[in-house]
Amino acid sequence: MIDSIAPLREFVLAMTERVDATDDERRLFGEGRRHLARLISRDDWLPPAFAAPRAERYAQYLLHSDTRERFSIVSFVWGPGQRTPVHDHTVWGLVGVLRGAERCEEYVLHEGRPVPTGRHHVMRQGDIEAVSPTVGDWHRVSHDWDERAAVSIHLYGANIGAVQRHRLDDAGAVLGFVSGYDSVVVPNLWDRSAAARTRIGTC
Ligand code: FE
Repeated sequence: MIDSIAPLREFVLAMTERVDATDDERRLFGEGRRHLARLISRDDWLPPAFAAPRAERYAQYLLHSDTRERFSIVSFVWGPGQRTPVHDHTVWGLVGVLRGAERCEEYVLHEGRPVPTGRHHVMRQGDIEAVSPTVGDWHRVSHDWDERAAVSIHLYGANIGAVQRHRLDDAGAVLGFVSGYDSVVVPNLWDRSAAARTRIGTC
């Protein structure tokens, strides 16, 4: 069996080293973007269970949380017609599209309230963008592809599923929310037996 999860393990290692070295958001954006670009440049490592759409709404699967919760990695999956509420993040984050395309509706804060700009942009496979209270934190994301699910990989500066955040309800009121995760297990990054067997085989 090949070590197909290796790109994700290498990303975890790289980001662990980055957050050990700095907590400066601009540096983490720059370096995180470079490592995330490498991760999403190939589409052969994400286990299917973490790319599965859900019938009722978009899915968010935890792929990894740093043991000190300094960062987390999440796969988001949108089926056709699915979208998030208008929401913020409250921590730094990078979003990279692995599969398909997503539509981002843009919001700005005006007198403490998120207001739609009327603009949107479409992110396609390989595109990466940043969110944070510093660079712009409010948006709505929706599926924008064909009849297949779209998948993006998100890197956040906290254990994002447990962070208290904000969203707009249908009437435009700002509500608190904690997203949680749709998964109860994480991918096994640590089965290194294939590499170990390869070494034994060459003795
Ligand atoms: Fe978001």
